[in-house]
Amino acid sequence: MRILYVEDEKLLADAVIHLLEKADISVDWASDGEEGLRLAKKPVYDALVLDIMLPKMSGLEILEIIRKQGIKTPVIMLSALSEVEDKVKGLEIGADDYLGKPFKTSELIARLKALSRRPALQNSKTLKFADLTFDLDNRTVNDIELTEKEAEILEMLLKSGEKTVQKDYILAHVWGADMLAEDNYVEVYMSYLRKKLKSLGSKVKIKTIRGLGYKLTCSES
Ligand code: CA
Repeated sequence: MRILYVEDEKLLADAVIHLLEKADISVDWASDGEEGLRLAKKPVYDALVLDIMLPKMSGLEILEIIRKQGIKTPVIMLSALSEVEDKVKGLEIGADDYLGKPFKTSELIARLKALSRRPALQNSKTLKFADLTFDLDNRTVNDIELTEKEAEILEMLLKSGEKTVQKDYILAHVWGADMLAEDNYVEVYMSYLRKKLKSLGSKVKIKTIRGLGYKLTCSES
């Protein structure tokens, strides 16, 4: 596997790269945010490892820009500030994993290997659940068009399978910094999605888990 590692502390980077290469992971290294962003856009990496505090541009900014451009390379964020806020921010804008500094390189290797074992999500351009096929590029489900927010919500539900997705998480993820967004937006969009699934004649239902969130279920009847 080949990764991009963006880290400004050279001694740390050297030590980590040495161990990654011993584990058969080839590494391209960038020491500042701008160079990191330039390289991160190349479609050659299996994963990106981004430090948060970097010269010129932060790791969070890199992540935000590439996700907006539709680049889906898995990302592990690193931060010396093992603060919950950083972690939440990183995951909200599309990081796949998070590692607090200092970390053991063996832990980083384990996380990278775990990400590379999730090929179905990253390489295929569709997500499937029972009789539903969601097209990640065209944002359609079984060829029916979805609005942008419906698509984001359905994608989250499909990626979680039968696990419950928390309502707060959906609100933060889909509406993000929109301070005017309210709890009931989620409910409204769930009812839109339910109507669309019904119109498709799908066996899949969106189940409300009271006080928690939503999950997909499939009834055979
Ligand atoms: Ca740093």
